Amino acid sequence: MQIGCHGSVWTGRFDDDGLRDAIERTAAAGFDLIEIPLMDTGLADPAVVRGRAEAAGLAVTASLGLSEDTDISSEHADVHAAGVARLLDCVEFLAEAGGTHLVGVIYCAMGKYTAPARELNWQRSADGIARVAQRGQELGVRVGLEVVNRYESNMLNTGRQASEFVDRVREHAGTDNVDVHLDTYHMNIEEPDMFFPVLDAGDRLGYVHIGESHRGYLGSGTVDFDSFFRALGRLGYDGPVVFESFSSVVVHPQMSSMLAIWRNLWSDGDDLAAHANRFIRGRLAAVGSIAEH
Ligand code: MN
Repeated sequence: MQIGCHGSVWTGRFDDDGLRDAIERTAAAGFDLIEIPLMDTGLADPAVVRGRAEAAGLAVTASLGLSEDTDISSEHADVHAAGVARLLDCVEFLAEAGGTHLVGVIYCAMGKYTAPARELNWQRSADGIARVAQRGQELGVRVGLEVVNRYESNMLNTGRQASEFVDRVREHAGTDNVDVHLDTYHMNIEEPDMFFPVLDAGDRLGYVHIGESHRGYLGSGTVDFDSFFRALGRLGYDGPVVFESFSSVVVHPQMSSMLAIWRNLWSDGDDLAAHANRFIRGRLAAVGSIAEH
């Protein structure tokens, strides 16, 4: 199992300098993996990222949220096509950077919709993700569909919805490299509890974000991490587990407005990340000790 950290703990600028700093500090905090936000794919050189991550001993994954202009669930053919092109660029970038998982709100735009998704939107999204998954399959990249709260998507708000959609997309794509991606911050808003959705996702669960209810220090909010980590243990989950936190101290202009990052919840990213690394490993060790006896 790889324990990782989201790049936004370190920087809001994902060019070569920003990523060098993020990679070094992720490794220093004790993590195995860095998740790179691909808001600006053009700013960094994937070969440089690959070399630095390898030197630091870190695995690489990447995430993004699509925008209104690149919404693959759109009924407008040009917007759908722009979204597919954007995601295919991201798959190529990630593969060149030595990465293994492309995740996030990549099945629709990340933001508040004013109407529910219609069947045409689901169809368009499934078509787009299938194409990305097929390219990912060729490059050794898995695709994770992140379940988020109602203010950030009108499609996948629960693990159950995501499981159904993942089955549909896997069949459509003819590949099995499409997974459910659960995030404790979003689950805490939408799911009935933190245990059963993990078991319900079952072997479709391929990626996990660990975030607190206010996205700050783990253990300082209302997320029921005990139940969540017990469920991971019961399931025997062994994919990436990635800490995600945002503060107005470290700001990517696009992301902060999309995710509503207005408050300063911490100012020392190094302390925050080292704490999260201990917190996650401690919980996993505890549930692991039960599973073995
Ligand atoms: Mn997340």
